[in-house]
Amino acid sequence: MNNTSDFRKHAHQFVDWMADYFENIENYPVKSQVEPKEIFNQIPSTPPSAGEAMEKIMQDFQQIIMPGITHWQSPNFMAYFPSNASYPSILAEMLISTMSAQCMIWETSPAAAELEEMMMIWLRQMTGLPDFFEGVIQDTASTATLCAILTAREKATNFNVNKTGFSDDKKLRAYCSSQTHSSIEKGIKIAGLGKENLVKIAVDEKLQLIPEALEEAIKNDIAAGYIPCFVTAALGTTSTTAIDPLKEIAAICKTYKVWLHVDAAYAGSALVLPEYRWMIEGIEDADSFVFNPHKWLFTNFDCSAYFVKDKKALINTFSILPEYLKTETLGKVNDYRDWGVQLGRRFRALKLWFVIRSFGTTEIQEKIRRHITLVKQLEKQMEQNPNYEILAPTTMNLICFRYHPTTINDEEKLNQLNEQLLHSINKTGKLYLTHTKINGTYTIRLVAANTVLETRHLDEAWALIQKLASEEHKKA
Ligand SMILES: *Cc1c(COP(=O)(O)O)cnc(C)c1O
Repeated sequence: MNNTSDFRKHAHQFVDWMADYFENIENYPVKSQVEPKEIFNQIPSTPPSAGEAMEKIMQDFQQIIMPGITHWQSPNFMAYFPSNASYPSILAEMLISTMSAQCMIWETSPAAAELEEMMMIWLRQMTGLPDFFEGVIQDTASTATLCAILTAREKATNFNVNKTGFSDDKKLRAYCSSQTHSSIEKGIKIAGLGKENLVKIAVDEKLQLIPEALEEAIKNDIAAGYIPCFVTAALGTTSTTAIDPLKEIAAICKTYKVWLHVDAAYAGSALVLPEYRWMIEGIEDADSFVFNPHKWLFTNFDCSAYFVKDKKALINTFSILPEYLKTETLGKVNDYRDWGVQLGRRFRALKLWFVIRSFGTTEIQEKIRRHITLVKQLEKQMEQNPNYEILAPTTMNLICFRYHPTTINDEEKLNQLNEQLLHSINKTGKLYLTHTKINGTYTIRLVAANTVLETRHLDEAWALIQKLASEEHKKA
């Protein structure tokens, strides 16, 4: 296809396909039901030498690809954390991919750099972060966290590791709770600190990091000749949305001059609600903060917002200046290639601009508040049913629960029963949930956060859970 008239024709057809998809999304099995290699074996093992008609490609997309898709935009997707899209976000993505601008530096598309700068200011206001934080869009929270670790490493070593590599005499140490996301450990490994230098701090019964345990670990490390370098506080852990006590952690980091990174990848979006701002009490003493608009702020994947207090340290860690990237505007504008790992960058700010303008901050708040309200209503119903147990505090819109018929008290049996229940729920294709383990207890997670979520979706989910639970109980 090389001409605009064919492009126009197919683009219009595809837009119809897109709208149909959303109208029919609840008819697809939420979790793809294919077997391993089922898709792979249907794709020709060599590429075509002659171009094929778009009609044929689209037909194969429908027949081969669609059965292998898990429908993250379905309101019945209540697994993991969501990866929400929305109509304005998708429309922006159409424009972004049409221009396909590579926005590595200001000059390669000034609008991308300047819109990004302003969108980070908007997000800062929407979440109540202090004014001195400056933001940059990263692809994912994992990358943002890696940037934080690398910057902390450089600050702690006078930017020497970047220059000469690690020397053996000084071992840097990092700290996070046992509940923290795996991206912290991955970043620590990539940054060369070594997994053994990531100290996992104990949590209390609410699965929140215990500040006293953190302080003790830091003190012990100093006494043993280590250099404490990096602490992660998690606002909304992936397992249970536990919220680490930021204020206490921040005070410790301030005392011992350790970089404090706040991982709010999912729960950061809840900060648009004034009633959740208590979570960031103490944020003035944090060095970096990340949250993902691509999770719970209706902006399709990928778009992660990374904020730093000391922009210079970030840029000093990452800047490179080969001759071919020297520009007349150097130093006067934001060249975001120096604010992270990637050189080439997509124009992600446009999605945020479309989403925030199209909904407005009030509707964004209402959507997020409604998710939380609906989930808390479901939690109440579960609490009132003697056969269900809530296994962790429901801090926002994730319920950690298990089916616990009053007649069964063997923990091993309960674990098996709940694992079976989860599989049978997901096999129906009507609902998709995932699990975690809390102190060895098999726990089902339900997260409701779809852009167009309604009460009926949660009612239907609850009815299905109860029906399948009693079926599994009879079988056991
Ligand atoms: C999802 C999540 C991450 C990782 O996010 P990516 O953007 O996929 O890298 C990190 N931390 C927490 C708490 C998360 O929930």
